[in-house]
Parts: sequence; C-alpha cells; structure tokens
Amino acid sequence: MFGVGNNGTVEGRVDVVIVGAGFAGMYMLHSCRRAGLSAVVFERGGGVGGTWYWNRYPGARCDVPSLEYSYQFSEELQQEWEWSEKYATQPEILRYAEHVADRFDLRRDIKFNSTVTSISYDDASNTWTTNLADGTATMSRFVVSAVGCLSSANRPRFVGDDEFAGQILHTGEWPHDGVDFTGKRVAVIGTGSSGIQAIPIIAEQCEHLTVFQRTASYTVPAHNAPLDPNYVRSIKADYSNFRAKNSLTRAALGGDTPTGTSSASEVSDEELDRVLSERWAKGGLLFLGGFNDSMVNKASNDRVATWVKRKIASIVRDPNTADLLQPDTVIGCKRLVVDSGYYETFNRPNVALVDVSQRPIERFSPRGIVVDGVEHPVDIIVLATGFDAMTGSLLKLGVTGRNGKSLAETWDAGPVNYLGLAVNGFPNFFMITGPGSPSVLTNVLVSIQHHVEWITEAITHLDAHGFGSIEATSDAQNDWVSHVNGVAALTLFPNCNSWYLGANIPGKPRIFMPLPGFPDYVARATDVQRSNYRGFALRS
Ligand code: FAD
Ligand code: NAP
Repeated sequence: MFGVGNNGTVEGRVDVVIVGAGFAGMYMLHSCRRAGLSAVVFERGGGVGGTWYWNRYPGARCDVPSLEYSYQFSEELQQEWEWSEKYATQPEILRYAEHVADRFDLRRDIKFNSTVTSISYDDASNTWTTNLADGTATMSRFVVSAVGCLSSANRPRFVGDDEFAGQILHTGEWPHDGVDFTGKRVAVIGTGSSGIQAIPIIAEQCEHLTVFQRTASYTVPAHNAPLDPNYVRSIKADYSNFRAKNSLTRAALGGDTPTGTSSASEVSDEELDRVLSERWAKGGLLFLGGFNDSMVNKASNDRVATWVKRKIASIVRDPNTADLLQPDTVIGCKRLVVDSGYYETFNRPNVALVDVSQRPIERFSPRGIVVDGVEHPVDIIVLATGFDAMTGSLLKLGVTGRNGKSLAETWDAGPVNYLGLAVNGFPNFFMITGPGSPSVLTNVLVSIQHHVEWITEAITHLDAHGFGSIEATSDAQNDWVSHVNGVAALTLFPNCNSWYLGANIPGKPRIFMPLPGFPDYVARATDVQRSNYRGFALRS
C-alpha cells in the first residue's frame, strides 16, 4: 500500500493521509484502522507525541490533571497506565505517547522525519495528493490535519539577533540532549505558560536569570503532588463515569469540582475571599470556576483579578517587582497559567525582572540584550515567545482545494470553516481541533477524541451510503462563523491581545478562533451527523 521510493514519484495510495503524530494523529490512525480504512501518518519530528516531543524545556508539564489528560478510547489502556503525579511532566507524557504507539502498533504506519510541504485536491478524480519535503507524494481519498494548535513556534526577530555570541533557544523547539545552565547568565523572553513553567527551574540551575516581561500573566499555583494510590483506585473503579462527568463541563475537565453558583460581583468580601482562598489552596485551572460569571461579567472578573493581584503583592518582596508582576488585564482572557513557585522565584537574589512593555527590547548585542540603552549581559537566551497558534501549522501545509484555490487565500480574512472540522472548497479534508471548535479552551485530549470519532463516523457514513465526498457548504460555514463570533462576544475573551485572537502574530487577522463551551459544541456536532450531515454537501 505504501512504500518509500524515489523523489517525485507517487509513493502509494491510501484511504486517509494524516498529518501529525501527536495525540490527534495517533488516535486518528488507530481509529481508521478500526474502521477498516488504510491510513498513513506523516510527521516532521523523529517520534510520536507532538507537543510533548518538541516542548522539552525545563519545567514543562501538563496543567490538566494526568488522570484526565489521557486517552479514554481503551479501557485496558486507561486501567494499565500509572501516572505518578497529579500534573504529569513532559517526559512522563512523552513516555505515555510512546507506550500508546507501541501498544497499538502504530509506528508501522507513521513516517517520521517527513514534513508535508503541500497538499492538493484534484476535482476530476476526487483525490488528494500530499507532497513531502523529500519530493515524494502520496494519493488519498481523505486528508486529516492533526498538526496541532500550538506547533508552529513564534520566533520574533530582534535587531542584532544574528550577532549574539551565545545560544538562542525556543521552548517549543528544545534541544533533545538538554541544556546545562550551570554557571550561565540566562535571559528568558516571554511570560506565558511556557516561560512561567521554565523560569523557576532555570533560576535554580543558572548563575543569574533576567526575565524580560512584555505583559504580566495571571498564574495560579499547581500544588502538584504525587498521586494518592487510593484516589487513583477510586477513579479507575469507574473511569468511564469520571470521564463522562468531565465531558459535561464547559472546558471538558474537572467534573468533580463544580463551578460556583454565585456571581463574584454580588458576594461579600468575606465570601469572595473564602471561595478564592479555597480554590487557590486547591490549585489549578479551576480557580476561575469559583464563581459562575468570572468570564462573562467584567465587574466579577475585576474582583477576582484584584484578589489575585493582592496575592502577588503578598508573595513578592520587592515592591517594584511585585508591581510589575501584577497584570492590568482581564483575568482568564489570556490563558490562565498554572505554576510551581513562579512568584516566589522573584525573591531569589539571582533573578531580575525587566519590563519591556513600554520600551521594547531594542536589540541583541553580541553579549546580551539591550533595553532602553542598558545592556543586560547573558550567555543563553530562551525565547518563551509562544506559537502562531491554531492556524500557523495548518497554513504551512500549503493546502489547495477545489479549482486550485488555496487555504491561505480562503482564510485571508480569518479561518472560515464549519464546526472547526471542514472548509468549503476543500472536500474530504478534515481538521482535528481546528479553529471554530472548542480545542484549546478544553482538556485538548477530550476534544481530540471527539473530533477523531466524528471524522471516522463521517467517512464510514460516506462509504456505507455510496458517497464519494463530503464538503461544508458556504452557507453553513458563514452561519458557523457567526455563531462562534456570537458566543465569543458573550464572554470577556476578546478583551485582550491573546493568541486566541491571533494578536501575537503581526499581520494575522484578528478573530477569536476557539469556541467556548464544549458540551454545547458536541451537541451541535452530533446533531449535524444525526440530521444526515446538515450543512455538508455529500456527493457520489
Ligand atoms: P501536536 O501535539 O501539536 O502534534 C502535531 C504534530 O504535527 C507535531 O508533532 C508536528 O511536528 C506535526 N506537524 C505539524 N506540521 C507538520 C507538517 N507540515 N508535516 C508533518 N508534520 C507536521 N493542552 C491541554 O489540554 N492541557 C495541557 O496541559 C497542555 N499543555 C501544553 C503545554 C505546552 C508546552 C503546549 C505547547 C501545549 C499544551 N497543550 C495542553 C496543548 C497541546 O498542544 C494539546 O494538548 C495536544 O498535545 C495537541 O495534540 P495534537 O496531536 O493535536 O497536536
Ligand atoms: P504565549 O502564551 O503566547 O506567551 C508568549 C510570551 O512571549 C508572552 O508573554 C508574550 O508577550 C511574549 N513575547 C512574544 N513576543 C515578544 C517580544 N517580541 N518581546 C517580548 N515578549 C514577547 O506562549 P506560551 O507561553 O508558549 O504558551 C502558549 C500556550 O501553550 C499556552 O497558553 C497554553 O495553552 C499552552 N501551554 C501550556 C502549558 C501548561 O501549563 N501545560 C505550558 C506551556 C504552554 P505578550 O503577552 O505581550 O504578547
């Protein structure tokens, strides 16, 4: 079915080409096999795991509890795998991905070190051709993009960056053999989730750390700990019920910790403090669920934010640093960060914070970073500058659909699509966790599972009913975009310069890309399938 051959030749033909061997691509492959479809996965990296293959920076770990951030398609798998901590580290998650690949014999259909450079559709034969960087091509009836929402590193250029004499690293492209920070002066640029996880660990290992902060983030403690075997046993005794409860929440996580029922703007100061102190002590992303309106009511959000700012001021000893670390944005508007000792790190004598919000980084010199005419000497620069999120890797696929129209052209003003799964003009092309779906606003593994199963069912339906192709209609797509925009407008999410909006990438259209609300989304996507794929054109 599939073999490696000479450049420029068609390597083979499969039912489904899948791009990416992270959790989405791995499960898509397994699901195709179960449905009797032939499939091949192309992965630019040298192994499985996606995010967890690339992001090997110190401190990288999950911010969703391990018992939730895992596959649920196999009862045997979820029973046999033992997580060691409440929040798993990157190496442990990567081991899990490798275990899954071995257990389900996935590697034989994954081509590693294979970057997809273009994918094009031929109208006449209803066939996709996927081209790799090595010049080879593969034909298929279907293409599934599993390229991930956070897999295209954002590496901003700085004046003089090619003259810097030391090492420049990006958290999302971390060297596999690690980095020795001993005795080094280190700079971290960026204080999102990656920077905030890496900073405390780098500070412990290096001689001196300078953190360059453009926008302060809100972060809550993880209170990570080894998993209690009794707790694990209790979950595993009825894992499916635990999963089902989690899937009914807005973010598909934390079903055991219900969202509060009162408004943060209406409770007394004492009650506000009681609820938030309890959530802070518990730790994790559910901090914002203490009240029912933190993300929809600005007055409520302000009260929660003020509480957190006081907390920061109480932890950080230097008043100027404490001041700079207090964000002036809506809490939760950029993704809430979950940390281990972040604010405390700024009490260390070897850590300095440089504010680059008003005066940006001027340039890199051969010996360091210059801000406001002052050179900060460093040996290693860590870019924790994030990703061209949600559309970056998709657009780099170079997809061309019907009538030779490219995805880049189609998305010129923003990623129009239907259900975050399909795009008009691109028959038989599916996206896992595409823009327009809940994706990054959820426990992503749950969203991945849902999309993989939806796509597999759609392909099976076509085959069972003699259809050759499925394509989102233009009307359904326009309605969907309005729906996503409408839901986002009901929340406080559009109120800051987040990567959810594409605001971190110069020139990127400013559209709120993920859809808040997992259960409602699932109900709509299921309804579309039950109503004979309403909004899709099915053709023979
Ligand atoms: P990825 O894991 O990103 O895999 C996509 C794969 O596609 C990559 O391996 C990439 O190399 C490959 N690829 C891309 N383009 C091409 C191409 N042109 N050719 C060939 N291959 C290509 N989510 C959570 O829910 N909870 C968390 O705690 C959490 N923590 C995270 C921490 C970090 C540091 C990051 C960056 C993200 C985190 N996420 C988290 C989101 C995370 O991306 C998802 O949870 C999940 O791992 C995504 O899986 P995926 O398979 O969809 O994509
Ligand atoms: P990010 O949230 O986009 O943060 C990037 C940081 O770099 C921001 O502080 C940004 O400042 C700064 N930055 C970018 N360009 C800059 C420049 N030219 N000069 C100065 N500062 C600059 O990226 P991330 O931290 O990699 O996280 C991305 C997402 O991945 C997260 O939101 C989360 O979904 C996921 N993730 C999760 C975890 C976890 O806890 N499990 C860990 C890492 C990542 P501005 O804010 O001003 O733009």
